[in-house]
Amino acid sequence: MKKPKVVVLGAGYGGIMTTVKLQKMIGTNEVDLTLVNKHDYHYQTTWLHESSAGTLHHDRTRIPIKDVVDFNKVNFVQDTVISIDPKAKKVILEDGELEYDYLVIGLGFESATFGIKGIEEHAYTINNVNSSRLIRDTIEYNFSLYNNEEEERPELITIVVGGAGFTGIEFVGEVANRLPELCHEYDIDPSKVRLVTVEAGPSALAGFDPELVEYAMNRLEAKGVEFKIGTAIKEATADGIVVEKDGVQEEIKTKNFVWAAGVRGNSIVEKSGFEVNRGRVQIRPDLRTPDYDDVIVVGDCAVIMNEETGRPYPPTAQIAIQMADVAAHNVKVMVRGGSEFKEFTPNILGTVASLGEGDAIGVVFGTRKLFGWMASVMKKIIDNRYLLKLGGIGLLLKKGKFNIFK
Ligand code: FAD
Repeated sequence: MKKPKVVVLGAGYGGIMTTVKLQKMIGTNEVDLTLVNKHDYHYQTTWLHESSAGTLHHDRTRIPIKDVVDFNKVNFVQDTVISIDPKAKKVILEDGELEYDYLVIGLGFESATFGIKGIEEHAYTINNVNSSRLIRDTIEYNFSLYNNEEEERPELITIVVGGAGFTGIEFVGEVANRLPELCHEYDIDPSKVRLVTVEAGPSALAGFDPELVEYAMNRLEAKGVEFKIGTAIKEATADGIVVEKDGVQEEIKTKNFVWAAGVRGNSIVEKSGFEVNRGRVQIRPDLRTPDYDDVIVVGDCAVIMNEETGRPYPPTAQIAIQMADVAAHNVKVMVRGGSEFKEFTPNILGTVASLGEGDAIGVVFGTRKLFGWMASVMKKIIDNRYLLKLGGIGLLLKKGKFNIFK
């Protein structure tokens, strides 16, 4: 009998965890399981602010797919997905096509620019290993250029971050920690360097407890971060950005502009004709799309409503990983022709945002607030727990974060 073909797109948190679970749950005699990913590695998106700032080498964030996926059980295809044809049950790749009986989409996020002029062309984004390496190298290059220029060019040593949400704050915290070393390396007077965070909303870290936000801002300001809150970015150019507060516009010159103010689901999903809301599919409780019984969506390509607040859950790795449990189970049900689908309910264990080495803020176990070193240790525990779940003790020992004093 012909074995059903299951194809998983994307080896991010949702995709790789679904694959790793499926390879344990269903035998190769039952299913033909394929994982497609652009690269031959999985990367820890949640660590990319560190590699972007240059405080953690990007290789620490990468895990070879062969180290966690059993290639005797899973066909791994290293290729780029161009589109999906859900009616014909086909995936179009850069180098060919794949047919499927059941599909899991885990293609992750991309930056949302909200139509702001010039962002796409002139901003750097923390999206993947390549884009984060580019940010690190750009900052280093511009710092190295500074003392080679005849004229004073402050824009070379001005770093501007758009967005004081989770990603923006985590990145700024890392950069603030790295600046003393960068200034030393390139013989730059630290008092001349600017690190600016621009946030359109009324507060940094929207959604966090005000006490935690105050702590985070105080800690970052003490390290020299300038906050421009309630300030909208109107335009980005090759030489800087234009911001506006209370109707007054200002230009901030910079050659290091990082946009971290918003993400949406991978546009491939929308272009492939799935109905989306801000680029994300509003999936059914069993993670299948509203229109296709054979397509499951996990991670940042999906949107889950929080019934209590009436608002969507923010897209996180935590949710993507939890979705993988339900996705793998439901794929097994479909392959075996059953009907006992599981429904997905996020179990938010906590949220911890790093403020740079040894410092963080967060909420765990529902309402318990954590600050400073304790929060930073908790962040490492969360990271290490994921590695253990994904690749067992071997992966944890290889890639884990164990220095609790940093
Ligand atoms: P992703 O992890 O985005 O992976 C998508 C995968 O698909 C990648 O492997 C990519 O290469 C592949 N892919 C994409 N397009 C194609 C294509 N066309 N063809 C083939 N392959 C493709 N969340 C938390 O819970 N906690 C945190 O502390 C946290 N910190 C964060 C810090 C930063 C700096 C950032 C940027 C995000 C952070 N997040 C955090 C959010 C979290 O990283 C995302 O929610 C999570 O990565 C989404 O996982 P995913 O499985 O949807 O896809």
